[in-house]
Amino acid sequence: MIKAIRGTRDILPPSSAVWNGVEASAREVFRTFNYQEIRTPLFEETVLFARGVGAETDIVSKEMYSWEDRDGTSITLRPENTASVIRSYIEHRMDQWVGVKKLYYMGPMFRRERPQKGRYRQFFQIGAECIGSESPLIDAEVIELVVEILERCGVEGAKLLVNSVGCPRCRPSFIETLKASLQAVKGNMCEDCQRRADTNALRVLDCKVEADQPVIDALPSILDHLCGECSTHFATVKELLEARGIAYEVKPRLVRGLDYYTKTTFEFVHGALGAQSAVCGGGRYDGLAESLGSRVAAPGIGFSIGEDRLVMTIEEARGGETAAGPDLFIAPMGDAAQKHAAVLARDLRREGLVVEVSSDRKLKRALETANKTAARWTLILGDDELAAGTYSLKAMASGEQRSVKREEIAPAVKRLTAPVAVQS
Ligand code: ATP
Ligand code: MG
Repeated sequence: MIKAIRGTRDILPPSSAVWNGVEASAREVFRTFNYQEIRTPLFEETVLFARGVGAETDIVSKEMYSWEDRDGTSITLRPENTASVIRSYIEHRMDQWVGVKKLYYMGPMFRRERPQKGRYRQFFQIGAECIGSESPLIDAEVIELVVEILERCGVEGAKLLVNSVGCPRCRPSFIETLKASLQAVKGNMCEDCQRRADTNALRVLDCKVEADQPVIDALPSILDHLCGECSTHFATVKELLEARGIAYEVKPRLVRGLDYYTKTTFEFVHGALGAQSAVCGGGRYDGLAESLGSRVAAPGIGFSIGEDRLVMTIEEARGGETAAGPDLFIAPMGDAAQKHAAVLARDLRREGLVVEVSSDRKLKRALETANKTAARWTLILGDDELAAGTYSLKAMASGEQRSVKREEIAPAVKRLTAPVAVQS
């Protein structure tokens, strides 16, 4: 038997309906924040991610799906989308477009990680980039955008963590301080941290190893080392969040190990997710465009929501609720009724009803199927009904049956299926 590749999976109904709901909600929120969709290719030149994500990150050093194309170019399946969006921004000279550029995307990303709950090798992200402004107003609005998406999707209990990672003016001296402190304690830390202490000290703060946590907690905080500009920027972001009534927790250990990340970083975590608790990561990257070859500055901030994890929290909160069945199940008896049913179904579908036409010749079996698929109404159509021009409509929940005319079907069915259903 051929199975899906490890770390990839099929998204099946009824879950696929939750995915569609999440995507529709996100699109609706993006629209109201004046964001527009960008679709970039699923694969790019490897060098884009090496430079844009950073050669020293886990993503680039061990998680990328790369191969050599026939012409020798190294190609990589995108592990994230910010680098691609900025590549596109530079390529299409979006700096010349009017105002701040607000772009969103949704789609699959690929990372060769160890698959586990909430961690896949093909996973989906819903994200956005806001490019062209350094203002803290933008940071607060971008964070608010995530809050609104989570809310619209019905996610409750996500916690917002924020931090500032400074800028190329203040961060280097903090890194020196951090490195100096690490010399004394790194011997008690995990192997990765011992290496990072020299190569990429900031990433020590990111370590997930349990035993290292008390050591990390005692390390110096970047917030004590921000320059005046960064610290004012961070204070303003926090004020603007408070003004919006958005609760947050400052987490000085929330860092990104890349030089182009500046100022605000944030993350949303959710308790229902267990070890893979991050549902969204984001931050400012004022230096990214230049490091990808842009000659003009393009300060920006973005985020990415892990859609797999988002759907997981929604499904967990809902419990085992089953998907809705069709509005109407038509059971035609005989050839003439079958033809009539096809036309009737077409017309009712055009009116927006979800209609299923039985291909079963036995009435009993057709009705059993109607029951099992949780159809709301069943319409039985036989020679007698055809001759009389009336239809026998049965409400499955109550069992009540009545005779209706053609034009009465849709209103009757819609009344029961409308959100504020009043049974007639
Ligand atoms: P984590 O710490 O969980 O590895 P990350 O820092 O690698 O996350 P980002 O690169 O910031 O994650 O991506 C943003 C979001 O994408 C994460 O918050 C998470 O919800 C989701 N995500 C990242 N990697 C995976 C994966 N392998 N499978 C499913 N979702 C993922
Ligand atoms: Mg990761």
